Amino acid sequence: MSSKILNGKIIANKIIERIKKKIKIEISNSNRKPKLSVIWIGNNASSKIYIQKKKLACIQAGIEYQEYNFKQNTEEKKILNLIQEMNQNKTIDGILVQLPLPKNININKIITSIHPKKDVDGFHPYNIGCLCIKSPKLRPCTSRGVITLLKEYNIKMHGLNALIIGASNIVGRPMNLELLLAGCTTTVAHRFTKNLNEYIKKSDLIVIAIGKPNFLKGKDIKLGAIIIDVGINKIKIKNQIVGDVEFESTVLKASYITPVPGGVGPMTVATLLKNTLEAYQNKYQYPI
Ligand code: NAD
Repeated sequence: MSSKILNGKIIANKIIERIKKKIKIEISNSNRKPKLSVIWIGNNASSKIYIQKKKLACIQAGIEYQEYNFKQNTEEKKILNLIQEMNQNKTIDGILVQLPLPKNININKIITSIHPKKDVDGFHPYNIGCLCIKSPKLRPCTSRGVITLLKEYNIKMHGLNALIIGASNIVGRPMNLELLLAGCTTTVAHRFTKNLNEYIKKSDLIVIAIGKPNFLKGKDIKLGAIIIDVGINKIKIKNQIVGDVEFESTVLKASYITPVPGGVGPMTVATLLKNTLEAYQNKYQYPI
């Protein structure tokens, strides 16, 4: 069975062009541009690449982009003060703090200090809670991006047995909430899951986000399964980026599969822009 590649690059580009059109209309109505402010602490090489991609996408869409880069040893208080200022600033629509953070900075403190209505990464407990009670507002970008990608390819999710491998706050857990919302029966596996292959072989849809190159193999999946590879792993020998899925064996058995690069990654960036536009449009009501 030869599978269909879910081309995140093409779909993300389509979404960015749609956003661009909407922003043009706002500007023609004499409104200001949406604005995204990014805080980046330290000089993590991967973060640098991700931030550059976000910046370029903002430029493509016509979103104003502002970046603050702090030294690795910056005090937490300084970041919290800046976020407070950004929360008050009416010309800033979205605030994003690039992860991971240095060890001296408490990630939960930082995330909860961002006003939920400007939380374009969707990680604030209020936004996660809204997704949990089936009343989503701003939603985490990667998991929302995966749902958008599946919908753009008209893939019906209702009733599918979905397995999420990886249970992080950033990907696995929100992915579980998204797939539940889409009508799947979900299972979340993690490093302590026993007999993982038993779950893999029964699943119609697998989203994997564990950060282990070529972990999921074609021989283990169900024929016709839909495979979403969130993993981004740098292979030192060839200086290549690969996912968590062994693509060559899995592509032969899956009905749909995302490539790495060019699958989920661009969808994450496009969804960040979508969230920024929604924050600018005040699409959701926040009681706090
Ligand atoms: P993380 O380290 O925070 O979480 C990894 C999860 O995988 C944990 O829940 C852990 O229990 C689980 N895990 C580890 N080994 C396992 C195993 N052998 N079997 C089952 N579960 C196992 O990582 P993260 O931040 O969620 O990122 C995961 C991967 O996704 C990384 O490669 C990261 O670079 C990538 N990522 C990609 C995007 C994107 O836009 N494509 C976005 C975020 C993260």
